[in-house]
Formats: sequence, C-alpha cells, structure tokens
Amino acid sequence: MSGVNASGWRPEMGSAEAADMATASGDKGLMLEEPLIFELAAPGTTGVDIDAPGAQPLASLGKFLRKDMAALPGLSEPETVRHYTRLSRQNYAIDLGPFPLGSCTMKHNPRLNEKVARLPGFADVHPLAPQQTVSGALEAINQLAFWLIELTGMHGVAMSPKAGAHGELCGVLCIKAALEARGEDRKVLLVPESAHGTNPATAAFAGFTIENIPATDEGRVDFAALEARLGPDVAGVMITNPNTCGLFERDMKRIGDAVHAAGGYVYCDGANFNAIVGKVRPGDLGIDAMHINLHKTFSTPHGGGGPGSGPVVLSEALSPFGPLPYTAKMPDGSVRLVEEENATEMGHSQAFGRMAAFHGQMGMFTRALAYILSHGADGLKQVAEDAVLNANYVLRSLDGELDAPFGASGPCMHEALFSDANLAEGFSTLDIAKGLIDEGFHPMTVYFPLVVHGAMLVEPTETESKAGLDRFIGSLRSLARRARQGDPALKSAPHFAPRRRLDETQAARKPVLAWKGDREA
Ligand SMILES: *Cc1c(COP(=O)(O)O)cnc(C)c1O
Repeated sequence: MSGVNASGWRPEMGSAEAADMATASGDKGLMLEEPLIFELAAPGTTGVDIDAPGAQPLASLGKFLRKDMAALPGLSEPETVRHYTRLSRQNYAIDLGPFPLGSCTMKHNPRLNEKVARLPGFADVHPLAPQQTVSGALEAINQLAFWLIELTGMHGVAMSPKAGAHGELCGVLCIKAALEARGEDRKVLLVPESAHGTNPATAAFAGFTIENIPATDEGRVDFAALEARLGPDVAGVMITNPNTCGLFERDMKRIGDAVHAAGGYVYCDGANFNAIVGKVRPGDLGIDAMHINLHKTFSTPHGGGGPGSGPVVLSEALSPFGPLPYTAKMPDGSVRLVEEENATEMGHSQAFGRMAAFHGQMGMFTRALAYILSHGADGLKQVAEDAVLNANYVLRSLDGELDAPFGASGPCMHEALFSDANLAEGFSTLDIAKGLIDEGFHPMTVYFPLVVHGAMLVEPTETESKAGLDRFIGSLRSLARRARQGDPALKSAPHFAPRRRLDETQAARKPVLAWKGDREA
C-alpha cells in the first residue's frame, strides 16, 4: 500500500489532475452523475398512457381548471427507478461505513430490530384502532417504559414525544406546570455554554428567559458560578450529562442538591445516555426530567430529519404533571398506562396536556425494545463501556496530531473532542471534514460545541471494530498532517465526491429552493 491510502488518493496526484478526469457521459466509473428529475424529462412527456379527458368533465371543473400545464417531469418506470437509485448511491450511510457524528450517535442498527418492527401486529397497528384490538402493541410500549424507568431510576415516563427536542419541550413544560401548581412564576432557566442549540430554543419556546452558565477550563459546568446565580427567579437548569465536550459532569449530584434547595428543577439532556446506560442512573443524580433519544442510544435508524422518538423520564416531583398518555410506576414495581379515561382513578389528574395525538412512534418503540431485550442489562452496560473505550482510543491515538482542548481533563466519555488549534495558517476544521469525504468517511460533527474554536466532535460508538477504528484514525492522522503542513490540495477537497466543495455561505444566504426551469419548453 506504499503511498496510497484507503481512498486511492496519492500524495503526488495534484487536485487538478484528479478533478479533470472528465468523461463524455459525466459518470466516473461507478460514481454516477445525475441531473434533477426536472432536467431529465420535459413537461408533456409521460411514462403512462392515459386517455385524453373528454370536454364535459373538464368544463365542469370551471374556475378550478388549471390555466398552465403543470411542470411535472414525465418519465417511464425504469427511468424513474434509475433516477432515484442513482441519487441514493450518492448518499453515505451507517451501513456503508463509520458515521462519527459526535452527539448524534450513529451506530449500527441490528437487523433483529427490523425483523421485530416488521411483525404485522406492530407494523400494521392503526392509530385509531380500538384499544382492545391492539393490547399486544400497548404491552410492548409498557415493557419499553418499564425498561426506561428501570435504566434511569426515575418514577414515570411520557412515551409520546417524537424526538429529543420534543422531549425537551415536554420536560420543560412539566417544570412549568409544577411551578404553576406551587403558584410561583420563576422565569429563568440556566443553560451551560456548551449546550446543544435545542436547549435554549426549547427554554425560549416554553416562555423562559435563558441565562448562560460558564464552563471551567476543564470543560465542565462552573459549579460556583451556577450556585451563585440560584435564587427565587430561577426555574431550574438544563444540563447535558455527559456534556457536549465529551466529559461527565462530576458535580451533577451537587448541582441537583443546590438547585432543589433553591426551589428549582433539574432538566438533563439525555442525548448522550449511550455513554452511561447501565452504569449510572440519572435518577440517583437528582435529575427531575430527562429525554432519551431512542434513535441514538437504542439504535433505531435516524437521520435526514427523522424518524425519532424522545421519551421523557420524570422524577417523583415532576411525575404528577407528565402529559397523557403517561406511564407511571406503581407501588408494586409494575408500570401502568395512564390515559384520559383512567387519569383520575390513577391519581394523575394534574397532567399538563398532551404532546401528541397518539401514543408515539411505534416503529421506534419496537426497535428500541428489541435492542434492549437482546442486549440485556449486562449487554447494555457493555455498550456504554465499549463506546467510552472506543472514543478514548481515538482521542489518545491522535495525541500530538490534533489538538484536544480537554485532553488533559482525563479520559473522555463516548466522544472525543478536537480543535483546529495546531493547523497551518489558513487551514481549518472544514478542510479536515472535507478531506474525510475523500477518504471515504462521513465527517465528524464540526463547529459544535461552540465553546471550542473549530470544534471536531468524534463519536465512534461501540459498534466499530478495532480494525475499523484504526483505518479511520489512519485517515485522520494523514489529514491532520496535511493540514499542519498546509497541503493546498486539502484546501479544495473533496476531489473524489460527486460534488466539489460547495459555497456554503452562498447556499445559506441565497438558497435556491425551487427549480426554475423553462415551462414553455
Ligand atoms: C440530538 C441531540 C438533541 C436533539 O435531539 P433530536 O432527536 O435531534 O431532536 C439534543 N441535545 C443533544 C446533545 C443532542 O445530541
């Protein structure tokens, strides 16, 4: 393999040389070029034969009749299938290779989950089906609820939120309802600087004012600053643990005690639960509400805007306010579903309302339950241990290659954080990310968390093998060296992707969202 890396790029190959390898078809080997569907077919062509409409039915449409031809592309079935298949080949997927997007937990989705989710009793349930006909599906939801309560040491769980951010809103609305029940109007939610953007957005959406809590030099919440700010106007805190710098907030219990003593509540962003599942129970840390991204920790396929599922576990203090449907722990340890019909009887009459029309994302529930049951308690613990081990392997393997701003704070949790601090003048995180595309990898999370300049957040997850990690580390090492030495070819990467480097500023400032083709053609 002398001088040739995994993607076939050779150091002596200039970027122009690589880019100019034009072909008559536009395709390059198996890298297929594909225009927009509107560019493929002119309006008026069609893939199906439909009889011309008679004059009478058209006339009866009166003023609703279209004046212009709809600019719909007409393609035959094979042309349509090829169009979408060619486009799909330009995608990167977890089934193709590592997807080291920090915070997003893109891990392998076991095929067993898919098999279970496709059982007709789960896959075909209709949201409006009478409850007595879907008792098996409801039992599956209850079993998953039982596990989520068990794994978090909390009191109950609202299963209906549709994603992490939706879960945040649910938890913060519970805090609001609890404060209202106490007749208090506390307006401020404290959010650390390193928080995911959804945290302040949720707090603002729920009508709270956000105040930042600073971070210490080692990347954790500044406890003294937080304690000093607590008071009768503070509704609570929203803390991510493990945090987005990849570190465990060791002061969590102390933070919870201080916030509770000041009359506030503790929201935990549980998106990073993957690092501690089976090891730490958030309920033992004094957390009042936490969303669980089933699509991250419990491996249900996600990306491109969905699907997701964000159940919210609640402490005893917030449990009475949990939205319906709600799954509460009974004194005998079992869990039971509370709905409008039985809320009073079950002593759950203070629910703040609903988060969704129905029970939640059935497909995500069945996948997550299959994942939990197939791993068991010991397997889930190993998930966290292996995820943390893999991240630390990446972190330490890049010592001296990439700057790790909190590398000295001790081992990281399930993600390794790097910065652009030691790159050559003019080189940045974006160049490393684009270079990874040429290397055949999906880039890591970039420029997040905001507390680190040029952040690169790498989350390998527990499902990568050592050989896979070594290949990825080899690519990152090579890219870090090229960026430190100022290799001009890296500035214009990617060279081997279907598209070269895009003008992201223009794309954000002047987005072209509609095809403006020639309708007359
Ligand atoms: C993913 C994530 C969220 C939001 O979850 P969604 O399911 O995408 O809505 C919130 N906080 C953190 C830290 C995350 O990683």
